[in-house]
Amino acid sequence: MKWRGRERSSNIEDRRGQRAGGGLGGMGMGRGGGIRIPTGRTTGGAGGLIAILVVLGIIWVATGQNPLEMLAGGGQTSPASGSSTQLPSEGQDELADFVGVVIKETENLWTEEFAAIGEDYPEPTVVLFTDSVNSGCGLADARTGPFYCPADQKVYIDLSFYDQLHREFGAPGDFAQAYVLAHEIGHHIQNLTGVLPEFNRRRASLTPGQANAYSVRIELQADCYAGIWANYAGQENLLDQGDAEEAINAANQIGDDTLQKRMQGFAVPKTFNHGTSAQRREWFSRGFETGDVDACDTFSRDV
Ligand SMILES: [Zn+2]
Repeated sequence: MKWRGRERSSNIEDRRGQRAGGGLGGMGMGRGGGIRIPTGRTTGGAGGLIAILVVLGIIWVATGQNPLEMLAGGGQTSPASGSSTQLPSEGQDELADFVGVVIKETENLWTEEFAAIGEDYPEPTVVLFTDSVNSGCGLADARTGPFYCPADQKVYIDLSFYDQLHREFGAPGDFAQAYVLAHEIGHHIQNLTGVLPEFNRRRASLTPGQANAYSVRIELQADCYAGIWANYAGQENLLDQGDAEEAINAANQIGDDTLQKRMQGFAVPKTFNHGTSAQRREWFSRGFETGDVDACDTFSRDV
């Protein structure tokens, strides 16, 4: 991606090297603004859990921990205490610049799209953190992966995730990295359009299977919005050869079936909550090829 020298967003909050405070784990529940997904693996008391996470499945399978619980933080000790507060490396500073440019380009796109319907685009903040962070959805750990918190309208990312994306999940390339950000911004769009609040309202009446299916439609729409952004980046002449393929490969590598097979050797479709590799490739591509928000309606058609 041709990002160097371009304008960076002013909505980047750099909390790298800061220690997340302990004992705040329950705050997300109190504020109650998060997206909660009931899942088959949680026990009764933890039924109300928060998450809209691009790599939910990855972390879950890889660590055996439920990232929803990490975010909800109920009854948790503070994982941050005693952890390092090392300063970010030089390589990370370049990544931070990259994030700033990508976010600026998402602001440009969505400001245009909202203006077209006579609305202002409320820009989200992107928080860079190291190891763990206090979010409006509770205390989160880097292992959770990048996520969007509707309660404070912020995207959270530990930049070391990009190493993991490349090495563990086989998704190298700067445009794979951009795709992850554009996907999270897609969740912000869904928060504004009412898709996330609607899910939050209906969640309590859904079975775990229904909630997973609902979550898949939400995630695929966010992938489609990421594709729309990639289309926009193309119009701005920011794409290098192979960039689109990097994003499509990333979408493929973090599909639920591919992730589960890699981690445990088999896939359990009823637990899918982000979509299969084929679905994620398909919906990113729809957005990328059309550049049309209307092409991203994952709710009124088969996905
Ligand atoms: Zn997502």
